[in-house]
Amino acid sequence: MWRGLIDKYLKYLPVKNINNIVSLYEGNTPLIKANWLSKRYNIELYLKFEGANPTGSFKDRGMTYAVTKAVENKSKAIICASTGNTSASAAAFGARAGLKTIVILPEAKIAKGKLSQAMIYGAEIIPIKDNFDRALEIVRKLTEKYSLTLVNSLNPFRIEGQKTAAFEVADQLGKKKLDILALPVGNAGNITAYWKGFKEYNETEMIDYLPKMYGFQADGSAAMVQNKVIKKPETIATAIRIGKPVNRDKAKIAVNESKGLFHSISDQKIKEMHKILASKEGVFVEPASTTPIAGIINLIENGYNLKHKKIVAVLTGNGLKDQEFVLNNYDLPVGVKGNLKHIENLINLMD
Ligand SMILES: *Cc1c(COP(=O)(O)O)cnc(C)c1O
Repeated sequence: MWRGLIDKYLKYLPVKNINNIVSLYEGNTPLIKANWLSKRYNIELYLKFEGANPTGSFKDRGMTYAVTKAVENKSKAIICASTGNTSASAAAFGARAGLKTIVILPEAKIAKGKLSQAMIYGAEIIPIKDNFDRALEIVRKLTEKYSLTLVNSLNPFRIEGQKTAAFEVADQLGKKKLDILALPVGNAGNITAYWKGFKEYNETEMIDYLPKMYGFQADGSAAMVQNKVIKKPETIATAIRIGKPVNRDKAKIAVNESKGLFHSISDQKIKEMHKILASKEGVFVEPASTTPIAGIINLIENGYNLKHKKIVAVLTGNGLKDQEFVLNNYDLPVGVKGNLKHIENLINLMD
């Protein structure tokens, strides 16, 4: 029986007492072959669907370990800055552990689904009229002053927990050797975590290869690609609307060591891929999660040769988190009378 990723990968995630693990049985998410996209672009593309985690994003992987460690260390409260998913996950694991949870969020740029999660799990929510980078600055100052456990990806246990996604990908691929791991980059914690995971799996001889790490950003918040701080990051992909990635240096190392790259794409391409993924592959993700695929395809269209490459794209968050994005961009047909004849006329039954 699956009892969460600490239980499964205990060897790589030591705890003092296995009875005190704080888990919602996160992890063990599906790796789905992208049939339509693979055929169309002549690649072997798989989707690591992290939206299947208990709070709907990969953040649960880091949070189970960070909160387990907070409990081990007798912490009474946890705190984070968030573009949404970290707060949803912190609030859920905080509730499970019986810890007070405080979240500081950019008021205007957070998907409603994520906000409602933090609310219902019972976190203390402080929206600020500013962006994520400022929220994190404030949280860092507060944790220096008070005995609160920071659960942003500055917390090394977050990265430790998140590295298990690399183990799962390798386990799920079996004998197939992964060429490229592609993922969206915001604070650059996840790309750091995947690289650590692949290296540990390689060192412990669970795999005999290492994939290249490809990190993708939105043009308006491409702090890694442009190698600078973006003062006013802008993108429809709110989860990666970050101008000052806290794990910048580690992420650079991951990309350099693995001979990978950073690349950015437009909001328009993100929006197009959002629709393609749902309508051609049946996989509904939040906008930020489309960047690795939109990015891979943008590279191919720019002459990059990725023919027959085995690529895993990490789909970081569930589409249900940001329903507004769909409802604001696509038209819902107006309601009609429940009349059989009328409806028969409306539907094209001959196709
Ligand atoms: C947090 C998050 C990211 C960015 O991950 P980093 O570790 O900050 O680079 C990407 N997509 C989604 C959906 C997220 O919640």
